Amino acid sequence: MKLKDKIAVVTGGTRGIGKAIVQTLARQGACVLFTYLNSDAKAQELEASLTKENLKAKGFKVDVKDFEQVNAFKEQILDKYRTVNILVNNAGIIRDKALAMMSPEEWAEVIDTNLTGVFNVTKCFAVTFMKQRQGNIINISSLSGIIGISRQTNYSASKGGMIAFSKALAKEVATFNVRVNVVAPGFITTDMTSNLKEDYLKHVIPQIPLARFGTSEEVASVVLFLATDKSDYITGQVIRVDGGLGMS
Ligand code: NDP
Repeated sequence: MKLKDKIAVVTGGTRGIGKAIVQTLARQGACVLFTYLNSDAKAQELEASLTKENLKAKGFKVDVKDFEQVNAFKEQILDKYRTVNILVNNAGIIRDKALAMMSPEEWAEVIDTNLTGVFNVTKCFAVTFMKQRQGNIINISSLSGIIGISRQTNYSASKGGMIAFSKALAKEVATFNVRVNVVAPGFITTDMTSNLKEDYLKHVIPQIPLARFGTSEEVASVVLFLATDKSDYITGQVIRVDGGLGMS
C-alpha cells in the first residue's frame, strides 16, 4: 500500500479520469474525498463499490467554480479528517467552438471551471499544506494547453493557464515541502471525447504515434506516481500522457 493513512482530495471524481484516480488512490490505501457537480447516483455507486472492497472514499457535491462552496467543503473535511495530504485538481469541462462563434458565456464557463476552479480549490488547501509542511498537488491539464487545439481557445487558455499557475505555485511553496506537478493527457477515452465524429477520429488517430486513445487508468497511474514519495524530488513539472502526440 503506497498511500496508507494518506487523505486525498480529488475534484471531479464521478466519471472518466477522475473516477480512475479515485479508484487507484483508494486501492493504494488512501482515504479519498472526491467532488462532483451533478452525478449524485454515480458518486453513491463509486462510494459503495469501493466500500465493498474495504476501501475508503466519499463523494461531496461541490461546484469548483464557487469559492464559498469549496471553502465550506474544506472546513467540513478538515473538521472531520484533521488533515489532507494530496490534492488532485481534475474537474474540467469543454465547450468547443470556433472563436468567431464562441459566446462570452462559453468562454467564461470554461475558464471559471478549469482555471478559477483550480485557484479556488488550491487556495483553500494550500494553507493547510504549508502549515503542516507537507502537501502534494497534482493538476490535470491537457495537451491542448501546451500545443493549442483549434476550436478550443477557451479550453487551451484554461489548461495553459493551469500550467503557468502550477509552475508559479511550485516555486512559491517548495520551501514548505509542498510539491506541485501537472499531468497533461492527450486524447483519453471518456465521456468528454465520446462525441468526437468518425471523420475527426480518422484524421487524429494516425497522428498519435501509439495509434490509439489512452485510458483513464493510464492517466491515473502517472497521478499515483506523483502522489507517492517515489516522486519526492519532482516539482513544477508537466508530464504528458498522450501516446506521443505532442512530441517535438
Ligand atoms: P468527464 O467529462 O468524463 O468528467 C468530468 C468530471 O468533472 C465529472 O466528475 C464532473 O462531475 C466533474 N465536474 C465538471 N464540472 C465541475 C464543477 N464545476 N465542479 C465540480 N466538478 C465538476 O471528463 P474527463 O474524465 O474526460 O476529464 C477529466 C479531466 O481531464 C478534465 O480536467 C479534462 O479537461 C482533462 N483532460 C481530459 C482529456 C480527455 O481526452 N478525456 C484530455 C486531456 C485532459 P459530474 O459527473 O457531476 O458532471
